[in-house]
Amino acid sequence: MEKKELLYEGKAKKVFSTTDPDLRVVVFKDTTTAFDGLKKEELEGKGVYNNRISSIIFELLEAKGIPTHFVKSLGEREMLVKALHIIPIEIVARNITAGSLTKRIGLDEGTPLSRTVLEMNLKNDELHDPMLNRYHIYALELAEPNELDRIETVALEINAILREYFKSLKITLVDFKMEFGRHKGEILLGDEISPDSCRFWDAETGEKMDKDRFRRDMGDVMEAYREVQRRMEGVR
Ligand code: UDP
Repeated sequence: MEKKELLYEGKAKKVFSTTDPDLRVVVFKDTTTAFDGLKKEELEGKGVYNNRISSIIFELLEAKGIPTHFVKSLGEREMLVKALHIIPIEIVARNITAGSLTKRIGLDEGTPLSRTVLEMNLKNDELHDPMLNRYHIYALELAEPNELDRIETVALEINAILREYFKSLKITLVDFKMEFGRHKGEILLGDEISPDSCRFWDAETGEKMDKDRFRRDMGDVMEAYREVQRRMEGVR
């Protein structure tokens, strides 16, 4: 499937149209950003790791019955996906406290939550992705109640599947972000799931294996992404 027109360029990905109006090509860039785009760097190879890691995750989720936009991987940094009308809400699932939650509720980083917390944030860097509740979402007409019910159910299922999967790789899935979109009347998981959008901690050492290494200038960012991919591919 050939790329035609550039439809959208985001911070970490480009989206192209194809000859089929129902399909698009996503190209993963090496650009890495944090703090709503204020911190920005090119990390060589990041797009390749994120494409590979996301592809494996989408394949796993599809095999478990979760509908996603993923069709197939096309090459080192490209995947073929179903065209989505993205719902501009970032759904975050949290199993352990980290990041913004620690400040908001005053718990130390690393505190296990007695049940999974789902959060919904408006996808808007200028406004710093403010948290939304259902009333905001309905008032802004971002999604219908039945769509949000479906998204929450699927998001919790995805969390359960990925938590178990990463546990088997000795990686703790602390939290992660999902985006959903509409495709021919169906709600599908879209975007990517990668160390850019997840917090992964080594289950034995607690070491961070995700974008927090970049956010916090910890170094060895690509080494951590490579290690996640290596464990996922079963290379020991
Ligand atoms: N996240 C993301 N994109 C965003 C904001 C958050 O992918 O624009 C991910 C982030 O990597 C983490 C989870 O969502 O895995 C929860 O992030 P949090 O709300 O704690 O925000 P942060 O403190 O990371 O900005």
